[in-house]
Amino acid sequence: MNITCHGAARVVTGSCHQVELEGTNFLIDCGLFQGGKDLNRLNYEAFQFNPEDIDFVIVTHGHIDHCGLLPKLVKKGFNGEIYTTEATADLLPIMLSDAAFIQEKDTEHENRRRQRQGLKPREPLYTRDDAEKIPPMLRQLPYGESMKINDEVTIRFRDAGHVIGSAIVELFLTERGNEIKVVFSGDLGQWDVPIIEDPSFIWNADYVFMESTYGDRLHGKRKPRKELLFEQIMNTYKRGGKLLIPSFALERTQELLYLLSELKTERPDFPDINIYLDSPLAIKVTKVFRDHPELYDEKARSRTDKPFDFPGLTCTTTAAESMRINVSEDPAIVIAGSGMCTAGRIRHHLKHGIWDPKNTVLFVGYQAPGTLGRILLDGASEIRMMGLTLAVKAEIARIGSFSAHADRNDLTRWIEAFKEKPKKVFLVHGEGKTIDKFSEYLDQRGFNTAIPTRGNNVMT
Ligand SMILES: [Zn+2]
Ligand SMILES: [Zn+2]
Repeated sequence: MNITCHGAARVVTGSCHQVELEGTNFLIDCGLFQGGKDLNRLNYEAFQFNPEDIDFVIVTHGHIDHCGLLPKLVKKGFNGEIYTTEATADLLPIMLSDAAFIQEKDTEHENRRRQRQGLKPREPLYTRDDAEKIPPMLRQLPYGESMKINDEVTIRFRDAGHVIGSAIVELFLTERGNEIKVVFSGDLGQWDVPIIEDPSFIWNADYVFMESTYGDRLHGKRKPRKELLFEQIMNTYKRGGKLLIPSFALERTQELLYLLSELKTERPDFPDINIYLDSPLAIKVTKVFRDHPELYDEKARSRTDKPFDFPGLTCTTTAAESMRINVSEDPAIVIAGSGMCTAGRIRHHLKHGIWDPKNTVLFVGYQAPGTLGRILLDGASEIRMMGLTLAVKAEIARIGSFSAHADRNDLTRWIEAFKEKPKKVFLVHGEGKTIDKFSEYLDQRGFNTAIPTRGNNVMT
């Protein structure tokens, strides 16, 4: 058996792991690299395998760093089935169509620049036509049910508690009479977060591939995130400013809406302030949440009101509606994409508001190195954007505990729940230094860890 990590090896993004057995060759995830130019360049390199030879793909969840190269895989000849959970199957067409649109727009922009420099135009990574080929290939499997794909491979999904529909993948593999169980954690969520269930524990495996995004960090848990959010709302409201929240369309946005709707009913001092969900993508994703109440945790299921649909919330789909928010002088809460400020309407809101000390830019998610979000978080006093130099005068704030990822304690709790220590724990989906520290930490606790490098086979 060969397992090769083609992405998320000493980086967080680009998850793509290839499993090769005697008669079966498949992928776990096929994600986009996200971050600075160097990472983006990897998306344009040829796959290190022949897409025509891949029998099937398993997708752990709907984040683009796990599914965003599927249309390229199809464009390059993959023609198999894609296994995922029901909610992820609902999300993939939405997420991939949006990603393809961004690819088309970015390439158009890039080609205008190339043309001015006398260079040949570049082809987009993939188009919406390529993305449209994905939905008929999707096969759904609920959590907890086993599916025998062939004589060598049986799969089972467990709730990873990271985003709606997210899965831990259990692989039961048979090769030359030997049975081996390999577990891919996918991205693991935190315990006790709103809406979705906690991550499931897995009791046994020979080998585990585990995410390490926050393997060297503990999320601040001194105050619940709802309280921290309320403080940011009040501080900005008192200054008469706008609270601009760059947010990932999947999960983070719905969590924010859920908490805002709770705050509105629980806090009599909640200000009379307009709340805008200014993201066509997040609006579509929120519909998937409404469609899957069976995936909510007990508390969310027991709510009788509508957590994603409450008075004071305006969902703005058209560009004209979005622009009206920019020109309005009223205090407001604006949730817009993209989560790392690399694209989307948040960039327009930043252009109109980053220089104004009344406003707050509140980060509620991971910011990859090289992204505008990370540059702001690192304390830049000015930024260049849309051909302008903008002074950063708005307050830059962050609520770390909002992460959809497990922190070091959560990850340790999950891996220590295995009844017997796996033979080896491969650490993926983490930045270099983080993963080194986490590996050291787990080794001290008696685990045998290894850190795959990109493109190198880690198991034979
Ligand atoms: Zn994720
Ligand atoms: Zn991820």
